[in-house]
Amino acid sequence: MVNDYEDLLEKGMSEVPDEAGESERFELPVADTRKDGSKTVMTNFGEIADVISRDQDRFSKYLQDELGTSARVDGDEMILNGEIRRGNVQAKVKQFAEEYVFCPECESPDTEIVKEKGVEILKCQACGARNPL
Ligand SMILES: [Zn+2]
Repeated sequence: MVNDYEDLLEKGMSEVPDEAGESERFELPVADTRKDGSKTVMTNFGEIADVISRDQDRFSKYLQDELGTSARVDGDEMILNGEIRRGNVQAKVKQFAEEYVFCPECESPDTEIVKEKGVEILKCQACGARNPL
């Protein structure tokens, strides 16, 4: 009986989740855009890159490829050529996050991209999963 109780205690201890990770509810920011002549300015590009902790270069290249246009980053803003609907930008931001940020195993956004033997791997800090990109 005593031993069982101790076992339970030990088990319970190792299963206590990281409190910070539990209470922090991650929210993917919504892309903010404004029209500027024939261009579309994504005004919170830098902020989103920060929140998802991804490289601005990678993020902007991805958006350009996916939206089929070219763009340049100016401070926290990304200036895209052409008129692009906010919903389209947001859809690609979400897609990027699903591909490059959220862990496919546990859906935690607490991941990082590491390179091993020339292969990029999405490494999850929460569950330890490693998935090649
Ligand atoms: Zn995970």
